[in-house]
Amino acid sequence: MALSTISGQQRAVGFLKRVLKNEAVPHAFLFSGMSGSGKLATAVEFARALNCLTPHDHDACGTCGSCRKLDEGLHPDVVHITSDGAFIKLEQIRELVKRFRFRPFEGKFRVVIIHDAQKMLEATANAMLKILEEPPEANLFILLAAESQMILPTIVSRCCQVRFQPLDDSIVAERLQREEGFSPERAAAIARLAEGSLEKARWFSGQEQTAGWKKIIERLESLETISILDFFPMIAEWAKGRETAEQDLEFIRLWVRDLIVLRLLGDTGRLTFAQNVRATEAARAVPVERLFNLYKRVELAMQGLKVNANLQMTLEGVCLAIKDFLYGKGNWNSFSKRGQALSL
Ligand SMILES: [Zn+2]
Repeated sequence: MALSTISGQQRAVGFLKRVLKNEAVPHAFLFSGMSGSGKLATAVEFARALNCLTPHDHDACGTCGSCRKLDEGLHPDVVHITSDGAFIKLEQIRELVKRFRFRPFEGKFRVVIIHDAQKMLEATANAMLKILEEPPEANLFILLAAESQMILPTIVSRCCQVRFQPLDDSIVAERLQREEGFSPERAAAIARLAEGSLEKARWFSGQEQTAGWKKIIERLESLETISILDFFPMIAEWAKGRETAEQDLEFIRLWVRDLIVLRLLGDTGRLTFAQNVRATEAARAVPVERLFNLYKRVELAMQGLKVNANLQMTLEGVCLAIKDFLYGKGNWNSFSKRGQALSL
C-alpha cells in the first residue's frame, strides 16, 4: 500500500504528495469529509510515506521495515486515538502528552491520528489546542472529522485542511466487486445507495445479508395498516436498537428518496428497493410535495439524533409522518377510527 493506491481522492492525495515533496511538512492536518470516503486510509498511507526508509517518488515503498510494521499494526510511531465510549477523554490526551518526552522510536515522525475528532469535549479540545499551539518536535497530528464545523475553530485554524469528496459510485462499486466479490449488478445497486461512502456501502451489504434491511422495510410497510395498539409497542421494540438507530434512519431517508424517484420518473427500474411493493403503490397516489415534506422530516429527525434526541420519540415522529404523508391519503391522521377512539 502507498498513497498512490488510494482511489477516488486525487485532489487530497495530490496535495499530500506535494507536501511530502516540499519536505517542510506542517505539524497538523484536519482531514474532513463523510465517513467512508477514505480519510483514515489516507492518513495511514501519509504516515507510511513520512516514515518510509526507502521512499520512491515521495511515496512509501511498501516493503521496508517501517512500511511492513504499519501493515502489521506494530509501528510504534503511528498512534491512533479513538473515542473511549462516546467521547475522546481528557485522560487520553494526557497519556499522549507523556509520550512527547521521547522522540519517535524509529521513524522520522510520530504520527498521531485522532479519529472522530469532533468527539473531543471542551476540556479535551482545549488540551489538544495547547499541543497544537506548541507542537512537540517530530510529531505530526492528523485530525479526522466529518465536517470541520464540528471542531473548535481555534483548532481548525492551526491545522492544514484537506477535504475529502464523496467517492464516485463507480469507485465504490469497483471496490465492492474486488474486495467483497460482488457481481457488477449488485455492486452497482449498493454503490448507488451508499452515496459516496465505502463504509455505508459495507453496512448496506451487511444489512442486506442479515435481512436487517428487509425488517426495516417490513416495519415501514406495516405502517399502512397498523393499529394504534400495535404501533407504540412496535416503535418501542425498534428503539431498543440504539446502536443502529442512525443507520436505520439513513435507510429510511433513502427509502423515501426511492419513492420520490418513482413518483417523479415513474420508473421502477431505477429503484433501489425493488421489494417496496406496497409503498410504491401508495407513493403513486399522493402529491409529490408530500413526499418531499416527508423527506425533510426524516432529515430533521437524523439531525436531532446527532444531538442526542430521544430515539423512541424520533422514531415515533418519523413513522407517524410516513403513516400520514404516505399512507394517509389526505387525512392528517391515518389511524383507523376505532384505533383513535382507544387512545387519541
Ligand atoms: Zn518503505
